[in-house]
Amino acid sequence: VKESGKNDCLLYSESWSNSSLERLTLQHEMYRAIQRNEFILHYQPQYDLDSGAMVGVEALVRWNHPLRGMIPPGSFIPLAEESGMIVQIGDWVLEEACRQNKAWQDAGLPPIPVSVNLSIRQFVQNDDLASKVSAVLQKTGLEAKYLDLEITESMTMDVGHVSRCLLALTDLGVNISVDDFGTGYSSFHYLKNFPIDRLKIDRSFVRDIQQDPSDAEIVAAIIAMAHNLNIQVIAEGVENEEQMAFLRKHNCDEMQGYFWSPPVTSANIEEMLAPGAA
Ligand code: C2E
Ligand code: CA
Ligand code: CA
Ligand code: CA
Repeated sequence: VKESGKNDCLLYSESWSNSSLERLTLQHEMYRAIQRNEFILHYQPQYDLDSGAMVGVEALVRWNHPLRGMIPPGSFIPLAEESGMIVQIGDWVLEEACRQNKAWQDAGLPPIPVSVNLSIRQFVQNDDLASKVSAVLQKTGLEAKYLDLEITESMTMDVGHVSRCLLALTDLGVNISVDDFGTGYSSFHYLKNFPIDRLKIDRSFVRDIQQDPSDAEIVAAIIAMAHNLNIQVIAEGVENEEQMAFLRKHNCDEMQGYFWSPPVTSANIEEMLAPGAA
């Protein structure tokens, strides 16, 4: 079991699923939060392992709650998924990430893609996700190649439907990444059946690269296999120099993690992208 997932569940169940009343309250608050603009995106940089250049950012949602303060996604995304509210939140995230990325470009900053997390519910409840994405790109003026969509494995999905959706998205020109790669039941099935551009090695494998020889073997094998399939590889949760050196030695393409930067505000990203910034 993925550790972060475990923690998310714990937080979520302890704080909010105690009573159905609390859950209802929270769902109602979430609904209002969209209208009241309480959600905010932070962005975590992604770096090329050869050049060290920032080559992308991942948009990560937070809830700036008027009373509870800043709530991390692990504490409300599970309930949002359960209640279906994730579709509205996800729509907001998609549009805001595209709008922000276009604003950076309009400000003269070097263009980079923004990665947006998609919940499987967004495939199930949107008959035509590609049309929605296309409309958002049109509205915000962002070119499709500057949008990357991160999908996770799910056992409860209609493979044919998801596959058609992904092909339509690929036709638009957006990139598709598989998030948390290696933690699900059907990682290889994904690579075989879906048009995947990039996979993100889950941080549970990266974490123990130095201590656990089998994790090191797994990471090396994932990178080699992905490259044979013409799929790019990014490692998540890189926290130290040794992990970075290992990934570099095994030709991983990109990395994301606290070692170089945690998720930061859009203003921080602007500074980091500005010409002459370190
Ligand atoms: P994720 O997609 O796997 O995102 C990466 C998470 O790992 C982020 O947590 C990030 O802060 C954290 N992280 C990054 N580098 C490191 C590191 O070096 N070490 C460690 N220990 N952690 C690191 P965050 O922002 O709390 O997001 C948690 C999860 O919430 C995300 O995991 C994603 O599944 C979900 N999420 C966030 N935003 C959205 C969204 O807009 N839509 C959907 N559907 N899910 C979202
Ligand atoms: Ca992600
Ligand atoms: Ca991930
Ligand atoms: Ca490279």
